[in-house]
Amino acid sequence: MSSQLTLALSKGRIFNDTLPLLEAAGIRVLEDPEKSRKLILETSHPDLRVIIVRASDVPTYVQYGAADFGVAGKDVLIEHGGIGLYQPVDLQIAACRMSVAVAEGFDYASAVRQGARLRVATKYVEIARGHFASKGVHVDLIKLYGSMELAPLVGLSDAIVDLVSTGNTLRANHLVEVEQIMDISSRLIVNQAALKLKRENLQPILAAFETASLAGSPSA
Ligand code: AMP
Repeated sequence: MSSQLTLALSKGRIFNDTLPLLEAAGIRVLEDPEKSRKLILETSHPDLRVIIVRASDVPTYVQYGAADFGVAGKDVLIEHGGIGLYQPVDLQIAACRMSVAVAEGFDYASAVRQGARLRVATKYVEIARGHFASKGVHVDLIKLYGSMELAPLVGLSDAIVDLVSTGNTLRANHLVEVEQIMDISSRLIVNQAALKLKRENLQPILAAFETASLAGSPSA
């Protein structure tokens, strides 16, 4: 196996929040994915390249070894199942929470109390299924791929399960958060074979990520 290392990141929050961790390891990414259309980005480290993939595809690239390591949200890892992935570090970046939200005026507590069958729209069907099963609430899950906030507004669902950060998106769409399911942050994930076979090149980067994320965490 070559000593070339490939890091899978998604554009946006995860890419931006990973840059300072790379910098802590003395590594700069030489191109900005927001400006360039390239999907493979060189770095200042001669043996490290970054690939840009969809957030929900990061675990798949790492699982199959097309990337040696990556950064993925806990939400994405739960939905993926985490097979074949080593998860050494909670990087505590891209922090938010997974919540249940409904339209203003919808009496969620009564609907749950009365045992009504709730229609829940979400991209996160595994998390939603687990949450409502643990509460003993019967739900019909409707799988969506984006813009979940729209579903209760047009009668597609009674509730949504989605990521909430500032709450601005919910407020802008007259939705209210009625339950917080779990805190979410992004994790470093590593291909198990790469961890053994490329240890020499990989280990210093993993260690720098861990130190930098601990230094940046609120409890440090
Ligand atoms: P906010 O308006 O700040 O509460 O952000 C909510 C919107 O951003 C929703 O559409 C979420 O799906 C998305 N979002 C919030 N936090 C994250 C995150 N850490 N990763 C990916 N999407 C997020």
